[in-house]
Amino acid sequence: MTTQTPSTTTPQAPSYPQQVTGMDILVRALGMVGIDTMYGLVGIPVTELAYIAQGRGIRFISFRHEQQAGMAAATHGYVTGKPGVLLTVSSLGFLNGLTATANATVNCYPMIQISGSSVREPIDLLQGTYEGLDQLSIAKPLVKAAYRVNKPEDIPTAVVRAYRAAISGRPGGVYLDVTTPCLGAIMNAEDAEKLFYSPVDLCPAMPPAPGAIERAVALLASAKKPAIVIGKGAAYARVEEQLKTLVDKTGIPYYPMSMAKGVLPDNGPLSAISCRSTIMAEADVVILAGARLNWLLSRGHGKWSQNTKFIQLDISPEEIDCNRPIAAPVVGDLASSLEALTEGIARAGMNMDPTWVPGLQKESEAKNAKFKGRLADNSSAMPMNHWTALGAIKPVLESNPDVILVNEGANTLDDTRDSIDMSLPRHRIDCATWAIMGMGMGSAIGAAVATGKSVVAIEGDSAFGFSGMDFSTICRFKLPVTVVIFNNGGIYNGIGVNMGTDGDPAPTTLDVRARYDKLGDAFGAATYYVTTPQELTDALTKAIASKAPALIDVQLGADSGKESGHIGYLNPTPLENITV
Ligand code: ADP
Ligand code: MG
Repeated sequence: MTTQTPSTTTPQAPSYPQQVTGMDILVRALGMVGIDTMYGLVGIPVTELAYIAQGRGIRFISFRHEQQAGMAAATHGYVTGKPGVLLTVSSLGFLNGLTATANATVNCYPMIQISGSSVREPIDLLQGTYEGLDQLSIAKPLVKAAYRVNKPEDIPTAVVRAYRAAISGRPGGVYLDVTTPCLGAIMNAEDAEKLFYSPVDLCPAMPPAPGAIERAVALLASAKKPAIVIGKGAAYARVEEQLKTLVDKTGIPYYPMSMAKGVLPDNGPLSAISCRSTIMAEADVVILAGARLNWLLSRGHGKWSQNTKFIQLDISPEEIDCNRPIAAPVVGDLASSLEALTEGIARAGMNMDPTWVPGLQKESEAKNAKFKGRLADNSSAMPMNHWTALGAIKPVLESNPDVILVNEGANTLDDTRDSIDMSLPRHRIDCATWAIMGMGMGSAIGAAVATGKSVVAIEGDSAFGFSGMDFSTICRFKLPVTVVIFNNGGIYNGIGVNMGTDGDPAPTTLDVRARYDKLGDAFGAATYYVTTPQELTDALTKAIASKAPALIDVQLGADSGKESGHIGYLNPTPLENITV
């Protein structure tokens, strides 16, 4: 008979290798390329992904509407030079976000929209699954690049590819589709660990060809009346120093496009910001520095002299000749191109007409004095109009140059752009190339989060309506954002007349008596309702100093503003010519 000796060791639980999910891998891969912030709106299948991201130190800014989260990601990309990331759910969330990703692509803002998508097989067979939508196919024509990742093993590669596509060459919006099974797939942590790598040189310099520089230098050296048009590509490329050197060394005057205001100071001695028509009519050689000859520059026609020759500095070869022959294309990254051009022209020397710059300066002086009069003249007009309000805002913003100005609307956009001088680069963000409405709260949030700076968003009442609910996001995240609403009670203005007999509001009519400040109250912001220029000056000064969420409802007259602002010529028929 044998006696059993009791075991001295306690029984061990069976040991399994540590496991991770596709979501863990995705968060880690984003961290590896330096993503520290995500903007989005959660739900099936990405809720846990956002929790994991937050837990691992990636800031998650949660929105009320995906379009605004996307606008924030795009603005983050524009002001930092690194892709902003938008996270959306499947179907409608994806579609809402895609609006912003498409807009980012048109504007050359780098961003990545990551969207969860449902199980593929029933989508492909149209069998009717939860939020079933062929998202990849829908995204493709609207974005710079689109990828789908089906296996967790592929996630790190997918993230690096999306990053490179967003930022390299001409930046743009990239779509990354991640299926629900991929997000939930499980891998051994040890195997997953082997997938990660640090990509080398995520945004390589792309210097121009020496021959292209020679050609451009020869043309510039022959110019009698040269000018530089600075576009938001230059703001994005952070070439303010290179542009300053070129301007300092050559004395060439410059004209900034809307979002390029401040790349070089709007009120500098060589700023020709008030002389757009003269430059178009008289300049013989124009350097386009990160600006496209698109509709915002009359596609190179209209008021442009047909004798003007262009030197176009752009990263995108397809941009050249797209509307008008370009005499000297310089394809390359702007920093390299500007440095080479400056070096070349320093050697070749300029031959400018000695009357060109003094003439522009004289014209600027006269126009600026007239404009100043317009802002001051109206200071007693009641109720306020756009100019009165801007006359009150101008000194406050110009004495706070480091505040980022976000701006959308029709008259509110045009008049603000014309009134407020900018002196720092990437401090003006607006509806840009598509001239769309509905970027305000998103861009304000993206700008504040990405830079830590104070933001003032000057919004038309209609424009604000597209994104107004995300004012609550500004409040939840306690961002230093002041929203200023110009309430003239309508799209363009509040005096539209219904051409029928049903008594409904006219298509352009909103509510001139709406108290937007009460909307701010609902979310705990500091709020102001102002009816005079002095009240507006005081409220804005206080709001900026508070570095906290604020909303200023500016009461304008319903008759302030004209249809379509400065671009009424784009309407098929002027409203006054319509009869029913
Ligand atoms: P704007 O509206 O201010 O005129 P656009 O958005 O029309 O500006 O044009 C910006 C241009 O800048 C685009 O053609 C884009 O390809 C170019 N661009 C963007 N980044 C760079 C860069 N790093 N180097 C050179 N060109 C760039
Ligand atoms: Mg309005």
